[in-house]
Amino acid sequence: MTAVGTDHLTCGHRECAQADERILTPPTIVTFVRTLATLVLALLGAHDGSLDLLLASLAVYWVGDMADGGLARMTGRETRTGAQLDIICDRMSAACFCVGFAWYDPTMVLPVGIYLSEFLVIDLYLSLAFLAWPIRSPNYFYLVDRTLWIWNWSVPGKMLNSSLFAVLMVATRSVWLASAIAAVMLSAKLASTVRLSRIGLPVPTGCAHALHDERSAARV
Ligand SMILES: [Zn+2]
Repeated sequence: MTAVGTDHLTCGHRECAQADERILTPPTIVTFVRTLATLVLALLGAHDGSLDLLLASLAVYWVGDMADGGLARMTGRETRTGAQLDIICDRMSAACFCVGFAWYDPTMVLPVGIYLSEFLVIDLYLSLAFLAWPIRSPNYFYLVDRTLWIWNWSVPGKMLNSSLFAVLMVATRSVWLASAIAAVMLSAKLASTVRLSRIGLPVPTGCAHALHDERSAARV
């Protein structure tokens, strides 16, 4: 293939998207397994009213999330597909734990509601925005915008995003503290969304009709 605009598919930089996309790789298998385990543990925890099982689901989510990313980087198997699946499975895992925890302790429905709005909607949109640039994952978003990367996908940024809320909610059981933290995170994500829209998402170039006609012609 020699189409214009494919230079980035051969540059070889570790941050750049390459033409090696696959769904099933060792890291994505870890992603699927850890998500299934998180789901089963959280469902059992909610069913049995067991805090231990709910916390086990949270532990599998966090440890598994570090394991799939670490394995992908170590083995050079980072793909855009793997990054998307990781982002989507993180939402599933967080939802399982949070809904299970609100089931276990219904006083927590307000902070859980705010957190899920942030993580499952605003942060999902932000995290998938990396697809508009030729990078492998949000981990390399500093090549697009360093400020957004520091707030959202640097190592401290990611840890704050994924763990601060759950730790505070479980440790304090304070509706107002947990709600306040979730609200601050929601505000930070909304501010990030405003910054992203000011940067502007690149739109793929070319004509979809022309591509369609080309593929149809090639099939004949
Ligand atoms: Zn490159």
